Amino acid sequence: MADSLFTKIINKQIPAEVVYEDDLCFAIKDINPQAPVHLLLIPKKPLDRLSNAAADDQALLGHLMLVVGKLTRQLKIDGAFRLAINNGAEAGQSVFHLHLHILAGRPFHWPPG
Ligand code: 5GP
Repeated sequence: MADSLFTKIINKQIPAEVVYEDDLCFAIKDINPQAPVHLLLIPKKPLDRLSNAAADDQALLGHLMLVVGKLTRQLKIDGAFRLAINNGAEAGQSVFHLHLHILAGRPFHWPPG
């Protein structure tokens, strides 16, 4: 299968502004930000979408959640941020490599519409 956009970013074939990296994941600034802070937290493992995660992804998914906490504390946005995962094209997913949107710096409404 062809490498995803995010795998190409991990492999430095496409540039991106990386704000965090560890053995399992990395975070970049979204190229088309929807809020003053808009990061994408991406596992290095190219899982296409959350609904295809399996039991052996449990530690990775837990790790991503803990990194969200760590990153948002570091950026001092831990008081108010939105975390979003678009799963499937009809839900707005355009890059088929799991990623968590971390958005902050403006009010967010619920339901999102
Ligand atoms: P999705 O629509 O799949 O949930 O989110 C994909 C996100 O990737 C979008 O918010 C889009 O702006 C972002 N994106 C698409 N291409 C690039 C790129 O080349 N670099 C970066 N940093 N973000 C990208």
